[in-house]
Amino acid sequence: MMLDVCIIGAGICGSFLAYDLSHYKGSFAVVEKEHDVAGGVTMANSAIIHAGYDPKDHTLKAQLNVEGAKAYEAIAQRVHAHYQKIGAYVIASEESQIAQLKELQQRGNKRGVRCELVSGEELKQAEPHVCEAALMALYVPDTAIIEPWEMALRLMECAVLNGVDLYLEEEVIGIMHKRDYYEVKTSKQTLCAKRIINAAGLGAERIGKLCDGASPFHMEIKRGQYYVLSHHARDFVHHILYPLPSDKGKGVLCVPTIHGNILLGPDAQILSEEDTSTTSQGLARVREQLTQLVKEVPYGEVIRSYSGCRPCGNDNDFYIEESAIHPGIYHLGCIDSPGLASAPAISRYVLEAMHISSWERKEEWIENESVIRCDEMEDDARKALIQADPTYGHIICRCEAISEGEILAALRRPIPPRSIKEVKKRVRCGMGKCQGGFCEVEVAKLLARESRLPLHEICYDGAGSELGEEAKG
Ligand SMILES: Cc1cc2nc3c(=O)[nH]c(=O)nc-3n(C[C@H](O)[C@H](O)[C@H](O)COP(=O)(O)OP(=O)(O)OC[C@H]3O[C@@H](n4cnc5c(N)ncnc54)[C@H](O)[C@@H]3O)c2cc1C
Repeated sequence: MMLDVCIIGAGICGSFLAYDLSHYKGSFAVVEKEHDVAGGVTMANSAIIHAGYDPKDHTLKAQLNVEGAKAYEAIAQRVHAHYQKIGAYVIASEESQIAQLKELQQRGNKRGVRCELVSGEELKQAEPHVCEAALMALYVPDTAIIEPWEMALRLMECAVLNGVDLYLEEEVIGIMHKRDYYEVKTSKQTLCAKRIINAAGLGAERIGKLCDGASPFHMEIKRGQYYVLSHHARDFVHHILYPLPSDKGKGVLCVPTIHGNILLGPDAQILSEEDTSTTSQGLARVREQLTQLVKEVPYGEVIRSYSGCRPCGNDNDFYIEESAIHPGIYHLGCIDSPGLASAPAISRYVLEAMHISSWERKEEWIENESVIRCDEMEDDARKALIQADPTYGHIICRCEAISEGEILAALRRPIPPRSIKEVKKRVRCGMGKCQGGFCEVEVAKLLARESRLPLHEICYDGAGSELGEEAKG
């Protein structure tokens, strides 16, 4: 079959592209080397929908961040993903920083991003844990948070429901130019496509080389490390707190998450290759830089650390271009922050370059089902649910209060979880204080029962991570 478009990569960009394309008649596929959607940069970041005051004027980042951020709320609602506009403060702690704060305000206002200056006193009233030195802040009420992997999954679910083929665990290893189409060679098959979108995140430069011989852009890997505080620390901060941005990036932040945790980070460290481990030096940098932002950090509530790698480059701007050598191949390179916030607009930008407005739209389009989240229900509604289906009363993850019913419902969705980590990603089992110490084995048993596999064949995170011999005992 000849594909109209083959998307390489199922991160947030690939998911928005697949979702948008699924509204049109045609044949579309997404090829992803990992065993799940959002396994790359989209899995490990600050999860902020930045409002768009920060990127430099006349950059793609400035344009697409503002447009993307404005589009998010409606899309999140449509696909049943979390989105919370919690607002942010950008904090100046020295007199010399106030001019920069005012410059950011002007830049934001010019772009239609609501932002206002507030005094140190007002800031401290709203956020009692900001550091004593805080003098003034820029309040940006439209800054929001999401759960990035959830957003990508919900978008991709819609795409799959509407006919997009999703090939997981297939790495693109070759691209051949034929007379008027391309052959995309993966680790499992060869696909033929009229157009290719290279949305491969950290792998985009490699795909660039496969397409064009030499990649038209170069990327640098910049790792950022974080602490995660348990939701017992949820009152530590209520807004996103940013220091003033610098040429090095947005700095170390405090970020409340959708489910009441607090993220502290990220630092910034250039690496020669992708490596998402955490290091004591990186986490020490986070602690050190936080002293300039907040006080009395409840480090006793740290439940884990993680890191993500930013694909940086192109003079700190996104590189989004059609190949100069091979028409119909579109490269998304250097999609670092604010790539998440910009993703809806990145997708529209690429599809407009493909003249999508002249394509025929589908008359019918299937919505994905809403998600039952017991912890977000009123007591009476939850009781009625449990009466109708007692599996919703059987708690599997005690830290996050996740029931068997919620896991079973996740298993019935269009992109079902196949491993313990994929269940964790979808329903939060194991994201609490015990970090899966108690519930992982219960999740594994459920996966084994529902997939009719022996317990020892259940994977923690993709092929090669089977529970193995110990589970036999
Ligand atoms: C520390 C950190 C903090 C950040 N914070 C924010 C933030 O708060 N707000 C914000 O807006 N942005 C933020 N970002 C940036 C944002 O996370 C990224 O811009 C965004 O997730 C990139 O999405 P993507 O789809 O381009 O890439 P990815 O999510 O990496 O998706 C690309 C996919 O392509 C797949 N792939 C790669 N090579 C191949 C191949 N050969 N064959 C098949 N598949 C392949 C990968 O497995 C991956 O799943 C942050 C990034 C980092 C690292």
